Amino acid sequence: MTYISTQRLDIKPTHKNCWSIFDKFDQHLIGKLFFKKQWFNIILKPHSLGLGVATESAFGLMKAINCDHYKAKTDLAHAASFLRGMGFVKQENHYMVSAETLTCPDPYLELNQSLGIEDRKLSCPFQPTAVQLIDSDIDCFDRSTKLHPQAHHAWHQMKQAAKDDGVLLQLVSAFRSMKYQAQLIQGKLDNGIPLDDILSVNTAPGHSEHHTGRAIDITTHEFEALSTSFESSPAFKWLTDRGAEFGFIMSYPKDNQYGIIYEPWHWCYHPVAGVNK
Ligand SMILES: [Zn+2]
Repeated sequence: MTYISTQRLDIKPTHKNCWSIFDKFDQHLIGKLFFKKQWFNIILKPHSLGLGVATESAFGLMKAINCDHYKAKTDLAHAASFLRGMGFVKQENHYMVSAETLTCPDPYLELNQSLGIEDRKLSCPFQPTAVQLIDSDIDCFDRSTKLHPQAHHAWHQMKQAAKDDGVLLQLVSAFRSMKYQAQLIQGKLDNGIPLDDILSVNTAPGHSEHHTGRAIDITTHEFEALSTSFESSPAFKWLTDRGAEFGFIMSYPKDNQYGIIYEPWHWCYHPVAGVNK
């Protein structure tokens, strides 16, 4: 029984043929993985479905086990598509892949290639997609948002504390997928904006802190969203004084090392910085 560590997951053996899947970020249990004689089965909590967790845990397991062939059965369309993405081929009543044809799909590289973004332009660190997301607040444009459960909890505590001090904090944006980030950039390219100019404002897919479900853009009343003028608002003063108490740190101060413009509105949750873990 092997302990498996992937980019985002810790997969620990619990009993015979069974592993528990943990979110590496907070060691929270998000699912179970069963494997016996080439067959595997994955059961995930609802807030981890569709985030590539099944692919990453199955691929991690198959690499660690090293059999000739792997088999799986499913009636679910999204599960079938993740199996096909890893090279599984439909047999009569199941799916099968050989060790040689097993592939790990990497949508992140494909997205950047399709936008013409080369590695040398990626000055920001890689930011993996959250493996847990739950519904959070309605944003200032009346859209629903999603956050990692820990960041959601910290945001609510922080917003309430600000309110108690007479300060309104409001979300502009929370979780964003790599695909959505690619669409934002493609839209600007279509409008004739040069790629270098876009990348000083929008990080490349795979490099936005918004993928992690822990970054939020914040605004307050009487200030324009995503404008540098936010720095003179009472909300910004409050965040600077007390944001770290709740684990929120401003990611892109003036002249930051990533070459990203000054973003006084963008704050990211870091559990070690906060006292409310
Ligand atoms: Zn942001």
